[in-house]
Amino acid sequence: MRRVTILGATGSIGQNTLDLIARAPDDFQVVALTGGRNIAQLAADARRHRAELAVTAHPDLLEDLRGALAGSDVAVAAGADALIEAAQRPADWTMSAIVGVAGLAPGLAALEQGGTLALANKESLVTAGPLMLATAARYNARILPVDSEHSAIFQALIGEDRAAVERVIITASGGAFRDRPVADLAHVGVEEASTHPNWDMGQRITIDSASMFNKALEVIEAKEFFALDPSQIEVLVHPQSTVHALVGFNDGALMAHVGPPDMRHAIGFALNWPDRRHLPVARLDLASVGRLDFSVPDPARYPALALAWQVMAAGGHAGAIFNAAKERALDHFIAGRIGFVDMSALVAQALDHGLCDAPKSDITLESVRRCDHLTRQQMDRLIAA
Ligand code: NDP
Repeated sequence: MRRVTILGATGSIGQNTLDLIARAPDDFQVVALTGGRNIAQLAADARRHRAELAVTAHPDLLEDLRGALAGSDVAVAAGADALIEAAQRPADWTMSAIVGVAGLAPGLAALEQGGTLALANKESLVTAGPLMLATAARYNARILPVDSEHSAIFQALIGEDRAAVERVIITASGGAFRDRPVADLAHVGVEEASTHPNWDMGQRITIDSASMFNKALEVIEAKEFFALDPSQIEVLVHPQSTVHALVGFNDGALMAHVGPPDMRHAIGFALNWPDRRHLPVARLDLASVGRLDFSVPDPARYPALALAWQVMAAGGHAGAIFNAAKERALDHFIAGRIGFVDMSALVAQALDHGLCDAPKSDITLESVRRCDHLTRQQMDRLIAA
């Protein structure tokens, strides 16, 4: 029986994780579930899975959570410290699926237990990669990737000599505006940016797919996770979203991971690792897929993508600046204050200002939080100007 905790249980990744756990109730015991504002979902899942503890990030919702779990054995708590306590409860496996930089501190706390951290929260590696990896090494913990591209790379590397890796190719669907004339992008709206051609995800990550900010985060995440040189990472547009990533070796071989666009594959792989077990995902019928297309992303269509290489070259807190600037630009786009193409231009400006740089060894939870805060303030000033 594996003891599991899910940070961000009420979100898309959290719900998919619980779906898989519900299918194998004899294999998993739920320790703690955390959520944000969706108290009804959090309480329902905590009851259903007989969790020991349910935590909301928002102290003002504690009484609602207590009321929703009245008569159950589930302990309740709220706030940032309670999220850390949830992550510190003894567990063998923890899913890090809080969205944004808010996921960093609970993820670090979970690593300090020395168990396995299934990492969906890409912001952790983007903003604080060296800190995450050093914490995992110090406490003898293991990080398993959950982003589908990184899970694909991880799987393609099993049994391989890491020194023989020449390159990694991450695929991108191209998002909502893959076929739209570039000149039209200045006028596209929030609703159309929120429609993904292949994956069913939340609004923010879907818009980030259309701009390729999401792919830029994944490139940085891959560099950190697999200790790659930035020159070893390539991105190809692959509209079918069937090949999630490829690893190229020094003998010319390319190992591809092929699967349906269903996050339960990558989540289930991490949940069952090191075993492979049956997963309820569709089996690909390659004959009906018919063809697989690949092309180089157009830099004029996806200017956010090149910023990933700028961030990797700068190091230090550039990842934290990039993530915070992108988050804030997205807030303003969704609120209708800036246009779609303004997002990458403003994030590039924030990176050029480089407000909070420091050598790698100085990256701490506090320095990342401070950098995040300063950058969001700066973005608001840039947008107001
Ligand atoms: P969602 O927005 O669907 O869910 C986010 C979760 O975090 C919810 O449980 C939410 O609670 C909680 N939450 C929100 N804000 C806070 C906060 N300030 N403090 C604590 N908890 C908070 O996100 P996803 O599940 O889509 O994504 C989670 C992470 O996984 C992200 O980093 C994303 O980039 C990554 N990812 C997602 C993929 C996907 O397919 N969705 C694919 C690969 C990676 P509530 O809803 O109750 O308010």
